[in-house]
Amino acid sequence: MALTGLQIQKLLPKTNCKECGCNTCLAFAMKLAAKKADLAECPYASEEAKQVLGAAAEAPVRGVALGADKSLKLGEETVLYRHERTFVHAPAIAVNVNDTDPAATVDATLKAVADYLLERVGQQIRVDMVAVTQRGTDAAAFVALATKAWKAVGRPLVLVSPDANALRSAAVAVMGSHSVICCPDPESADALWPVAKENEHALALSAADLDGLVALAARIKAAGFNDLLLNFKSGVQGLAEQFQTNSIARRAAIKDSFKPLGYPSLRIIGDGDELDATVEAVTEIAKYGGLIVLPRFDAAQLAALMTLRLNVYTDPQKPIQVEPKLYPVGEPKPDSPVFVTTNFSLTYFIVSGEIENSGTSAWLLVPECEGMSVLTAWAAGKFSGGSIAKFAREIGLESQVSARRIVIPGYVAQISGELEEGLPGWEVLVGPAEAADLESFIKARLN
Ligand code: SF4
Repeated sequence: MALTGLQIQKLLPKTNCKECGCNTCLAFAMKLAAKKADLAECPYASEEAKQVLGAAAEAPVRGVALGADKSLKLGEETVLYRHERTFVHAPAIAVNVNDTDPAATVDATLKAVADYLLERVGQQIRVDMVAVTQRGTDAAAFVALATKAWKAVGRPLVLVSPDANALRSAAVAVMGSHSVICCPDPESADALWPVAKENEHALALSAADLDGLVALAARIKAAGFNDLLLNFKSGVQGLAEQFQTNSIARRAAIKDSFKPLGYPSLRIIGDGDELDATVEAVTEIAKYGGLIVLPRFDAAQLAALMTLRLNVYTDPQKPIQVEPKLYPVGEPKPDSPVFVTTNFSLTYFIVSGEIENSGTSAWLLVPECEGMSVLTAWAAGKFSGGSIAKFAREIGLESQVSARRIVIPGYVAQISGELEEGLPGWEVLVGPAEAADLESFIKARLN
């Protein structure tokens, strides 16, 4: 849990010697609380201070890094609600294949997962992981499938089997993938954590209930392994209990610094009704899910879940932005019309999409607006006639296009005069307030 400046000051020598560059220990404590200083800057910090501050600096939900390059990160969350600061890592989404599936189904699923790409507001989103589940009795077939999935898709795996020996063999076979081994029960965790450690995988613990998970997580951590996930079992709870379990665990980790629940969660969604599976996955995304395993590949379901995940896990304090520049929409010619909007990604993609839908090719001038939407940028003085004209001159707009007509958003009609002054010889047209009306505007005014 984060410490306040006053709490930190109590741990400092309180001699105000100024060697840290601050006039007082309290001033230094305030900088530490704001994460603008490092305790190492105080040469007289006690061991107790180092220990307490070190523990306080750890995220209450432990981070787990997966994948060959460990670039898939889970956990490290510090708040219960996004508006308090931000959520850090979106839950990973995996698609399952079974060792009992027909070979053609497995091949089709692995190819679909490898090829899946969703583009949203300039981001390219893919399926994060593949889950490999043993349903048959042939351990060798399970290990072969895990190896095949790792080679075919190249993403970390979730290894699921009731057989600890099969899990051990699969973990060795896919060493280097930094995957997740799912313990089928508490007893197997004692045998599997050394396997996970030796082969550099994470371990998902499972128990009959939350109390059992708490005891197990504490035991495995004490034994020497801490790259853990908590498997909240799907199918044994209704949605309300799922929501409650996830919330209790996250609240205990963040508000009470309760370490045995301070791990990312895993939820393997059963192979039942597709709508139920979707709602279960939605609940995970909305409330603290760490890793979600979907029972099968379904592009439509993935698109909905990925979009929801993007919405929840976008940092509201850092709007997604596109690069400020002149964008071609379609195949514009020098005399094609010029539109202008802000560099907030959502605005850019909506406006460019509507222009494209109209069948018209055009230029889209996107000045630097710090990722704000049109009205917000205008109110903040970042989207004025003067700033747009200045940007147009900086990028040499007049040498790139021969048209001398520029369309501004209807919401900022008041900047037209200033823009005309800044771009002498240009006709400034006031477009519609809503991007959805661009098509009719273009047909009525520009064709
Ligand atoms: S160096 Fe340490 S003891 Fe000296 S003023 Fe800074 S915090 Fe206080």
